[in-house]
Amino acid sequence: ATPTAVMVATGVGANNGVLIKGGDALERAQKIKYVIFDKTGTLTQGKASVTTAKVFNGMDRGEFLRWVASAEASSEHPLAKAIVEYARHFHFFDESSPTYGGQSNSKESTTSRWLLDVSEFLALPGRGVKCFIDGKQVLVGNRKLMTESGIPIPTSVENFVVELEEGAKTGILVSFNDSLVGVLGVADPLKREASVVVEGLYKMGVKPVMVTGDNWRTAQAVAKEVGIQDVKAEVMPAGKADVIRSFQKDGSTVAMVGDGINDSPALAAADVGIAIGAGTDIAIEAADYVLMRNNLEDVITAIDLSRKTFARIR
Ligand code: ADP
Ligand code: MG
Repeated sequence: ATPTAVMVATGVGANNGVLIKGGDALERAQKIKYVIFDKTGTLTQGKASVTTAKVFNGMDRGEFLRWVASAEASSEHPLAKAIVEYARHFHFFDESSPTYGGQSNSKESTTSRWLLDVSEFLALPGRGVKCFIDGKQVLVGNRKLMTESGIPIPTSVENFVVELEEGAKTGILVSFNDSLVGVLGVADPLKREASVVVEGLYKMGVKPVMVTGDNWRTAQAVAKEVGIQDVKAEVMPAGKADVIRSFQKDGSTVAMVGDGINDSPALAAADVGIAIGAGTDIAIEAADYVLMRNNLEDVITAIDLSRKTFARIR
């Protein structure tokens, strides 16, 4: 392609909200063989919401949620935000609570009066959070967090979590001191265009793959919904770049689509890094392409544009 053709293609991209950082990236996109999608916030809306809150030890549900929300209040994770939001709503409509907000208070002011003091807060990437409340150790996170902390998971709890995961939900376990006291189920719906884009990629001869830190059962359920056959689950934040490199081993051109801080090493490692415009600045900086419309259909637009620009008569 001539420099003029590259300039025109870059302009066409820009008009469609596809920002391309340079002609090399534009050229590489035509050869993409694998598109590795991050799950949370990329294939899914990244708007998680709690669908279930189950307490196993007879504790009052409002009080349970107050403890869990207090532990998660300092976390930036989308799951944490969903939990705090749910607990706040639950509390707001719970008239029996001593700090009931009633009609006259905003939810915000209610929350600040109702959250408990937390000490020694620790965010554990790929696992959850850990802190102390009222002298008790509180853990909120996945199985790995519980197992590594030596907290046994009773069979009844395990069965409940499996049920959530088979329904494409993420199960979040909660322990106080050394015992498991409850489980939350969190759902994060797919973006509406996700399955159409996945089908489109297969038709173009490109293989979509999903990568996630979430557990394999939830990952498998989400992959099935969206139509992706190849899934890498329970990948620790630092491991996404290794997943990219494993697909590059045979010389294949690999694209990564992601939105989070966690995704930036993988976006940089990929031959073509594609960031969602609504994603974090670090991801956008690490990428070669930015999708300003936050629409996954533009992954196809990007590949098409490159193929058309560099198409040669053979
Ligand atoms: P993803 O790749 O899906 O964005 P992360 O690596 O951020 O996943 O997290 C992986 C898993 O770690 C989550 O699915 C969840 O089980 C657990 N986790 C991480 N942070 C938290 C948190 N603040 N609260 C509860 N669980 C968490
Ligand atoms: Mg993400």
